[in-house]
Amino acid sequence: MDLDFSREDLAFRDEIRRFIDDNLTDELRHAAMTQTAIFAEFEPTMQWHRILHRTGWIAPSWPKEHGGTGWSIPQRYLFNREMTESYAPKPLPNGLGMVGPVIIKFGTPEQQQRYLPRILSGDDYWAQGYSEPGAGSDLASLRTRAVADGDHYVINGSKIWTTYAQYAQRMFCLVRTGDRGKPQQGISFLLFDMDLPGITVEPIITLGGDHEVNQVFFDDVRVPKSGLIGEENKGWTYAKYLLEWERGAGAWAPRLVADLKHLRRIAAAERSGGARLADEAGFAAALNELEVDLMALEMIELRIMSTLSKGGSPGPEASMIKVRGSEAMQRLTTLTMETVAYYAAPHTIHDVRRHNQSPIGPAYAPATTPHYLNARAASIYAGTNEVQRDIMAKLVLGL
Ligand SMILES: Cc1cc2nc3c(=O)[nH]c(=O)nc-3n(C[C@H](O)[C@H](O)[C@H](O)COP(=O)(O)OP(=O)(O)OC[C@H]3O[C@@H](n4cnc5c(N)ncnc54)[C@H](O)[C@@H]3O)c2cc1C
Repeated sequence: MDLDFSREDLAFRDEIRRFIDDNLTDELRHAAMTQTAIFAEFEPTMQWHRILHRTGWIAPSWPKEHGGTGWSIPQRYLFNREMTESYAPKPLPNGLGMVGPVIIKFGTPEQQQRYLPRILSGDDYWAQGYSEPGAGSDLASLRTRAVADGDHYVINGSKIWTTYAQYAQRMFCLVRTGDRGKPQQGISFLLFDMDLPGITVEPIITLGGDHEVNQVFFDDVRVPKSGLIGEENKGWTYAKYLLEWERGAGAWAPRLVADLKHLRRIAAAERSGGARLADEAGFAAALNELEVDLMALEMIELRIMSTLSKGGSPGPEASMIKVRGSEAMQRLTTLTMETVAYYAAPHTIHDVRRHNQSPIGPAYAPATTPHYLNARAASIYAGTNEVQRDIMAKLVLGL
């Protein structure tokens, strides 16, 4: 893996910087800086998505023939770093980083033509219909059932924790189509529209005050069979391929590195017993330890990026990134709570986004508590960290 930047790469970086200067408005930057969940709010994120799409830069990890950029690894790295350091809202991954790669690898040419352009343009946001009440880590026990009826399936059941389903035009969904053999053998992977009769989306408000997740109910929903990915009852294969992308293709390190820099600036401004908090030995050591861990994480992410650029998939190493990234995020938000101290406490999500009065304390205070609370979910979503450790033990260490 060669990460030396050539003169062309540096010219490319300058081009990105100019693009950011010309296009990233204060409002969009503010949305990313005050983001309290893993993604910024939906509307500004999609605005930025459309701006990137107009420039042809929305899907750097896709093959060029499907709308990717054809950039080298250093270019992709530079793009990601410049975007993150400038606090541009990160495009949502469900289409670009989850179902997109599945459709590219396993979809029919008709499915590719129908779905991929609208993922790229941002016309379609896709909800992920995997988890159910009673089927999360043990996903194969899912019970939402699809019964064949002519050229349709009829779906009944429910999905839960469905991120941003309230905005979704479409869903990729795991459904039970068979009961023979192991539970994994009777699952199919279906694509369908969210405005079909019989689909209801109900909000779940999180501890941090966000409306990020939902429960989705299916009541005799008729879904055309043309939305089936690959073969009936073989959905587990496609579902696992998608999970590798969900856990491994996105990079945690660039945003965490940017947030740590921001935290260092706050710690330099805050005082502890009369001295700068940044100079307090125990606190400085915790920041340095985190920085070293983030450097290690970044190297693993670059290694995966190198594999991807050669046509591979993230593989079980994706689990390593998921665990290290989410734990680093939780440590960082905990340290931020300690740094902002009393000013962190009074704020809810409404102070950050919707309150019409100035929030109490310095500008960096209001997002602290909602972000801290939301980050507790990081070791649960995309597969819990305990389950990722099981995967690593089996597939990486061969135990
Ligand atoms: C913010 C957020 C967004 C989400 N978005 C989506 C989404 O868009 N779409 C979607 O389909 N799902 C989504 N999820 C669901 C997520 O994938 C599940 O919550 C996760 O897989 C865990 O499942 P569960 O909640 O049923 O917990 P459970 O599986 O019941 O786990 C409970 C506890 O038991 C532990 N445990 C379970 N099995 C094992 C084991 N074999 N070994 C060791 N420990 C074990 C777990 O680690 C956990 O600590 C989201 C979750 C969150 C929190």
